[in-house]
Amino acid sequence: MADHLRNGPSELAAYWMPFTANRAFKRRPRLITGAKGMHYTTSDGRKVIDATSGLFCVNAGHGREEIVAAIHEAASRLDYAPSFQFAHPQAFELANRLVGIAPLGLDHIFFANSGSEAVDTAIKIALAYHRGRGEGQRTRFIGRERGYHGVGFGGLSVGGIPANRRDFGTLLPGIDHLQSTYDRSHQAFSIGEPEWGRDLANQLEQLIQLHGATNIAAVVVEPVAGSTGCLPPPKGYLERLRAITWSHGILLIFDEVITGFGRLGYTFAAERYGLTPDMITLAKGVTNGAAPLAGTLVSSAIHETIMTGPEHLPELYHGYTCSAHPLSTAAALATLDIYRDEALFEKAAELEEPFADLMMELRSLPIVVDIRPIGMMCGIDIEPSPEGAGVRGYELLERSFHDHDLYVRVTGDTAVIAPPLIATLEDLAIIRDRLVKSLNSLF
Ligand code: PLP
Repeated sequence: MADHLRNGPSELAAYWMPFTANRAFKRRPRLITGAKGMHYTTSDGRKVIDATSGLFCVNAGHGREEIVAAIHEAASRLDYAPSFQFAHPQAFELANRLVGIAPLGLDHIFFANSGSEAVDTAIKIALAYHRGRGEGQRTRFIGRERGYHGVGFGGLSVGGIPANRRDFGTLLPGIDHLQSTYDRSHQAFSIGEPEWGRDLANQLEQLIQLHGATNIAAVVVEPVAGSTGCLPPPKGYLERLRAITWSHGILLIFDEVITGFGRLGYTFAAERYGLTPDMITLAKGVTNGAAPLAGTLVSSAIHETIMTGPEHLPELYHGYTCSAHPLSTAAALATLDIYRDEALFEKAAELEEPFADLMMELRSLPIVVDIRPIGMMCGIDIEPSPEGAGVRGYELLERSFHDHDLYVRVTGDTAVIAPPLIATLEDLAIIRDRLVKSLNSLF
């Protein structure tokens, strides 16, 4: 650490770190100074294997030369172009590429910089769409308990993670939440989509009864809840949500910020389930994490409804200074090339079964109370410490990083493994072995 901090630990004070236990971090920092392939380099010169693709974004592995070159070329050619009333050609190229790999019918994309912005964009588009159709009273949204849709007020409101909401007042009005689809007593140690829980989708019918379908704008869900700890949808659950929303003119928004770009063995989870939602939000893997870019894919019906009004005025009063930033756009185009050329989504589909088998081996450890593999993602719940929720989880995070050269995302007492899709079986076995050591060290 010392070699990177000229004035010692006081240098850590100014940076207020996001979603971080700041005081604990600054007592014992975890500093990353480089990355290549499956590994990070730490400030004390260790190679740490990346078991969660950074924050679920580095799907093609770290330090990809093609992406670096594309960003470099863009930066030296066009540092910035105004995104309001002007554009640069690569923004259109990227939009066409993304629409080309999206589920049929999602023909337009609105660019943002983060998943949070993409979700808030989707919520605003849903409101503008209903208003455009003369149904401006459709202002209610339905999210789900344990859902994570970022930190903007829209995403926070439809999101269902109590700690994230607690300090921020009443949030948006008119929001309900479906029950979480997770029930350990029925689903523990399920591989893939659990058998139990399909009927939980019928709660949507109850909310429609309560509020009236004509007051509801949209349902927002992650196909697989990711940040909360990887909760796969019960078999038939998403299909039921699609059928109910469809029959009542309610939009269905899939937040695919994690599930997009191969995590579940498909370009989007929508494809895995054979469904077309009305909007899909994407971010993270679209640039392999190399630059910030996000988007909201939108159906033609929605787009056409909003493309009205005087032609000299914006149809939607919404956008970001850095929507489709040239550097991010270049990074995304190079990333999509890699995904295609290396068939990484197909590779993820092939790895799903061996990955699940390796993760399920942890079942024999007494501290492990559930394992939920799906695609190239797996939630592992550990028995909380008697000292309180999250205490043991934090210990797992620290011990993995400092003692076992393993980076893993931990939330509460749940570890989420989501390795880069370039992982070999040997890499996956190394991740398993280090996890075993780290978990065993907790007693
Ligand atoms: N939506 C989902 C499903 C996510 O997992 C995340 C981030 O983890 C977000 C939205 C927010 O993305 P960002 O952190 O880029 O704002």
